Parts: sequence; structure tokens; C-alpha cells
Amino acid sequence: SIEEEVDAPEDLKPRAPIVTVMGHVDHGKTSLLDHIREENVIAGESGGITQHIGAYGVTLKDGQKIAFLDTPGHEAFTAMRARGAQVTDIAIIVVAADDDIMPQTKEAISHAQAAGVPIVFAINKIDRPAANPEKIKEGLAAMNLLVEDWGGKIQSHDISAKTGEGVNELLEKVLLEAELLELKANPDRLASGTVVEAYLDKGRGYVSTILVQSGTLQIGDYVLAGTCSGKVKAMQDERGKDIKKAGPATPISILGLDGAPQAGDKFSVLDDEREAKQIATKRSQLQREQSVRTQRH
Ligand code: GDP
Repeated sequence: SIEEEVDAPEDLKPRAPIVTVMGHVDHGKTSLLDHIREENVIAGESGGITQHIGAYGVTLKDGQKIAFLDTPGHEAFTAMRARGAQVTDIAIIVVAADDDIMPQTKEAISHAQAAGVPIVFAINKIDRPAANPEKIKEGLAAMNLLVEDWGGKIQSHDISAKTGEGVNELLEKVLLEAELLELKANPDRLASGTVVEAYLDKGRGYVSTILVQSGTLQIGDYVLAGTCSGKVKAMQDERGKDIKKAGPATPISILGLDGAPQAGDKFSVLDDEREAKQIATKRSQLQREQSVRTQRH
């Protein structure tokens, strides 16, 4: 069945934090995500081109892991939340130090607060001559958001997504924040989690990037994801490397679903293939009926 089973406390193991990057347009979200990916994912690979799969995991030098949702902008964050998906533990909010606290910065702050997700501020573009990080912190203080330098509890770090200055320290602060959250999940059960994105690939069929949040996903598992289902034929990590299983807080792309589920759809593994197929079929029937009804009105 797809009912949530409650885990016994002793079955819960520490897991990596799942982080989303938000902020005003042009303040440097994409640059920051690209920098982190290039430093921590592509480095060490023998010339492999890493495709964008909507999420990636990084392992820092000390072995600690962070899972990033690589869907910058809070549209993705709110779209997922609207579908009931809670997939972010910590929000990095990027603010350009040579600009002001802009409308989308404020929106990102309210979205994170509404979701109860702690914020770490990345005061970006400090390599620019016009950068004035203190002005940004002052602006935050005026909004009742006191960062540590200003005697408050909110983490922030001055960075340059362009030169990489301060990015490692920023990630250390993200991990510090994660420690306070005591994030845990049970790896020893059938996997469940959330769909990040999915598309039809000409050669490989439907490719879905999913984030495992509980349990461990394995090749051969029967997956139900929104109105789609199928047996996992292959799994790849952010390096495009084939893997056989994926535990909690691991983003991976999977092959084998019979369609492209929507971002924010929950997925779960069922004991039997027929049940997964039946539920998926029933859901798409319901969806069709609903859309016919809304068209009539
Ligand atoms: P997004 O819209 O928030 O994703 O912003 P982008 O990452 O696309 O960055 C917007 C522009 O600012 C681009 O031209 C970047 O090259 C530039 N940019 C981003 N971060 C920095 C930085 O730390 N320093 C400088 N000088 N430019 C940056």
C-alpha cells in the first residue's frame, strides 16, 4: 500500500540536507549553483560533460554531503509546495551586494518563512567595486532579519559566485544550520520522495530526476510517480554514472517510467508492479475527468 508508515526512532539515520537557492533575478543564483557544481561534481571526472538534471549532490572535502535542487528561482519552489511537496531543508537566498533588497528577495524570504525553512544569506558579487555588503545586512536588519555579524542568529556569508571567494565558507554555514535541524531518515525501507523534473529523451525514453527522501531505491523496484509507473531499469547520479541504489537525500535520474511525471509529484515504491500500474491508471483517469469537467465550466 502507499500509506505512510511511521519509522521507529532507532531506524532513523542522519541524512544530508536538501538545499534550494532563491533570490532576485540577476543576483547570481545560477552562477552560484554552477560554481558549486563545477567545483564539487565535475572536478575529478575525466572530461565528462555533466548534464543538467534539476538536482545534484555534492560531497565536500571533509566528506559531508549536500543535495542541491538546481531549479533556481522560487517559482519552482512554490510550484512544488503547491503540489504538497516539502523538499527543502534550507534555503540559500542570494542578494547582490551592489544592489538593494529587491521585491523577489523579499518574496523568497517570505516563501522560506512560510515553509518554515531556515535561511542562509549569500551576499554575492563582493568582487564588484560597488559592492556594499553592510548595506544589505542593514536592510535585512530593518526587516527584522538580524544576521550573525549584526548580533542575530541568521547565517550569512559574503561571497563572489564569479571568483568563488567565500563559497566554501557559505557551504560550511549551510552544514552548520543542517546540524541544528538533526535531519534523519530511514534508509532501510522501500523508497519514497519527490519528482524534480522529467522529460522524454529520444534514445532513452522517459528520464525522471527524482529526490529520494526516505528509504533506498534500487534497480528493479516498481515505482509509482503521480500518474506514471514503471520498473526502474537504470539509475544515474549527477555525473551520469550508473548506480544500483540510492538512499535518502540522493538526487538521481531514473529510466523505466511509462511517462513524465510532474515536478513536485510524490513517488513511492510498491511491492507489486500491477498495483503501481492500477493506481497510476486510476489517477490519470481522474485527471482526465477533472479536466473535462473544468472545460465544460
Ligand atoms: P540569476 O538570475 O540570479 O540566476 O543570476 P545569474 O547567475 O544569471 O547572474 C546574473 C549576472 O551577474 C551574470 O552576468 C553573472 O555573470 C553575474 N554575476 C553573478 N555572480 C557574480 C559575482 O559574484 N560577481 C560578478 N562580478 N558578477 C556576477
